[in-house]
Amino acid sequence: MRVGVPKEIKNSEFRVGLTPGSVREYVAHGHEVIVETGAGAGIRAGDQDYEAAGARIAPDAASVFAEAEMIVKVKEPQPVEIERLREGQILYAYLHLAPDEPQTKGLLKSGVTGVAYETVTDDRGGLPLLAPMSEVAGRLAIQAAAYALTAPQGGRGLLMGGVPGVLPAKVLVIGGGVVGAHAAKMAAGLGADVTVLDRNLRRLAELDDLFAGRVKTRYSTYEALDEETDEADVVIGAVLIPGASAPKLVTREMLKGMKDGAVLVDVSIDQGGCFETSKPTTHAEPTYIVEGVVHYCVANMPGAVPLTASHALNNATLAYGLMLADKGLDALKENRHLRNGLNVHRGKVTHEAVAAAHGLPY
Ligand code: NAD
Repeated sequence: MRVGVPKEIKNSEFRVGLTPGSVREYVAHGHEVIVETGAGAGIRAGDQDYEAAGARIAPDAASVFAEAEMIVKVKEPQPVEIERLREGQILYAYLHLAPDEPQTKGLLKSGVTGVAYETVTDDRGGLPLLAPMSEVAGRLAIQAAAYALTAPQGGRGLLMGGVPGVLPAKVLVIGGGVVGAHAAKMAAGLGADVTVLDRNLRRLAELDDLFAGRVKTRYSTYEALDEETDEADVVIGAVLIPGASAPKLVTREMLKGMKDGAVLVDVSIDQGGCFETSKPTTHAEPTYIVEGVVHYCVANMPGAVPLTASHALNNATLAYGLMLADKGLDALKENRHLRNGLNVHRGKVTHEAVAAAHGLPY
C-alpha cells in the first residue's frame, strides 16, 4: 500500500505519525511510504533520516494526500486536510469525533475510512493507543510539579525528594489508573511521600502489590480528599470516568485548607478537570495561582516532549497500522479490536458512541 505521512499542522503539535524506525517496518512489509518534507522536525528527524529508512520525500502535504492510499497522522485532520481526504482512502490518527461536529461532518462528506486511535481496544478492556500518552502525561506531571514547587514559580520552595535530614514533599495522586500509576512511580522514584486515592478497590490492591509499600493507597471519599489535600504539597488530578466529564473532586473550599504554595497538576483537564478552580493552560503559560495554590492545567501535556511521545505512540500504533496497510479493509473484518477503531466509513458513522453523540444512525 502507498502510505502517506503529512507534517502535523495543528497548533503546537510537534509529534509525527511515523518515526523513521516505523517507516522502516512499513517498507520491510513491502509498502511504499511518502513523507512530507520536514514532517519529523519536531522529533529531530530530518528528511535524510526518512530517506535512509526507505521513504520518499514529498515537497508538500497536497502531494502526500493525493498519492497515499492510507494517511498516518497524530492529531485529527484540520479543515484544509479534511478537504484533501477522499473515499477509498484510510485515515489512521487520533480523531476524537464525539465532541467535534465540524470534523465529523467533514469526514462523512469526504467518504474516508477513519480509524481512530482512541477507540481501538485490547483483550484486557483497555485502550492501548491512548495509554502511551497517559504514561507520558503521568510521568511529566511529576516533573511539572517538582518545578512548580520551587519558589520562583510561586511554589512552597520545596525540593520534591528532600535531602537527608529534611522530609520530602507529600504527593497525593487522585485516580490510580495509567496516569496515576506513572505519576506515583515517578514521585516515589524522586523520594517523595506518595499516596494514591481511587474508588476501585481492585486497582488499589494492584497498586499496593506493585509498589510493595513504597506508595500508600486510600479509598477515595470526600473525607479522604479533605484530609489528604490539607496535608499535601502536591496534588495530581488523574481521574477518568469514561465518556463523562471529570468530577470536581477538589473544591475551592478545600483549597483554603491547603498549604500556601502547594501545587495542583490537573491532568484530567482534557476532560474538564477534577479541581473546581482548574482552567486549561498552555505550555507557554502553564501555571496560575488561586488561594496561594499553584495550578498547572496543560491540556496537551505530551506536546512538551514530542520526541518521547512520538516514539511511545509509534510503539503502540505500529502493529495495528501494519495490519491495515497489509490487508486494507480486510484487517477490520479480521481483528475486532481494530474494527472498534473504525469511526467513519464511506459517509457513515460506524462507531456507536460517536453516532449517539451526533444523533446519527449507527
Ligand atoms: P484511567 O481510566 O486509566 O484511570 C482513571 C482512574 O480514575 C481509574 O482508576 C478510576 O477508578 C479512577 N477514578 C474514577 N473516579 C474516581 C474518584 N472519584 N476518586 C478517585 N479515583 C477515581 O485513565 P488515565 O488514562 O489514567 O487518564 C486519566 C485522565 O488523564 C483522563 O482524563 C485522560 O484524558 C487524561 N489525560 C490527560 C492528558 C493531558 O495532556 N492533560 C494526557 C493523557 C491523559
